[in-house]
Amino acid sequence: MIKRLAVIGVGLIGGSLALALKKNGQVAQVIGYARSEAVRHEALQLGIIDEAAASIADAVQQADMVFVAVPMGAMAAVLAELAPYVNEKTIITDGGSAKQQVIEAAKASLGSLFPNFVPGHPIAGTEKSGPSAAFAELYEAHRVVLTPTSETRHDALEQVQQMWQQVGADVFVMDAEQHDVVLAATSHLPHVLAFNLVGMLAQRDDCEAVLRYAAGGFRDFSRIASSDAIMWRDICLGNREAVLDLLQQYRAGLAQIEAAIRTGDGDYLSTFFNQAKQARDSRF
Ligand code: NAD
Repeated sequence: MIKRLAVIGVGLIGGSLALALKKNGQVAQVIGYARSEAVRHEALQLGIIDEAAASIADAVQQADMVFVAVPMGAMAAVLAELAPYVNEKTIITDGGSAKQQVIEAAKASLGSLFPNFVPGHPIAGTEKSGPSAAFAELYEAHRVVLTPTSETRHDALEQVQQMWQQVGADVFVMDAEQHDVVLAATSHLPHVLAFNLVGMLAQRDDCEAVLRYAAGGFRDFSRIASSDAIMWRDICLGNREAVLDLLQQYRAGLAQIEAAIRTGDGDYLSTFFNQAKQARDSRF
């Protein structure tokens, strides 16, 4: 049981963890901080937090567990701000979508308390954001990846693992570098593709006429282009190398499809599409 949980960033990810732990009776008190007072007030009103802190220092000082769930671009500043106010008993964890960047920031800020930091990433979410998007069931039967370093305290890792299991998640431990490549492939690249498709169509003069005829397939493919722009800007920049590598691979594949269409190479197209279909059908 967590006595006092501090949630920095009470949006979809932070808010849902707080609601889930409360629902399951796994936390006695949740104190929350978000940059804007309106968001803190909203989180209080929605019962996500029991107390709104006026500063990061106030939020973390008495906490036994700190969960940082701000956009990736704010992680380093938040970790630097909280560092002077945590002690050797405080466990600090996060929900950021790219792990190597957060680990570097935590190492730089936390100094001798870096072993208390357990890097994490819940593989769960929706295209919605803010406190009103949070719900207690978000993590049920979803994966959470923890990417401890060689310095991470074993007992801290165990407690964070337990916290996620208590909200119904399946916890996996993975190396941060591997995590960043895997997530670039399965999440970051698909978001870039969806943003690019919708953005490209939106710039066409006949956009309205084109989108009027968009049906289920377009809706499915484009749903994630409705995700928060700042969050995805930060993820692309935060996982730059892996995203760039995959974009290059993707462009090479697209060039082959383009060449096949140009030359009328139907065999290439049907073989390739069929391989992709089989790969998908065998997994979902
Ligand atoms: P969100 O926009 O719903 O919530 C972010 C919260 O952080 C908001 O309460 C906002 O007020 C607060 N905030 C922003 N800047 C801040 C700052 N400088 N200091 C303090 N608070 C600040 O976003 P989210 O979807 O909950 O994402 C949070 C983190 O979780 C991100 O790092 C994201 O990469 C990661 N994540 C998101 C998803 C997803 O699908 N949305 C999934 C897994 C992980």
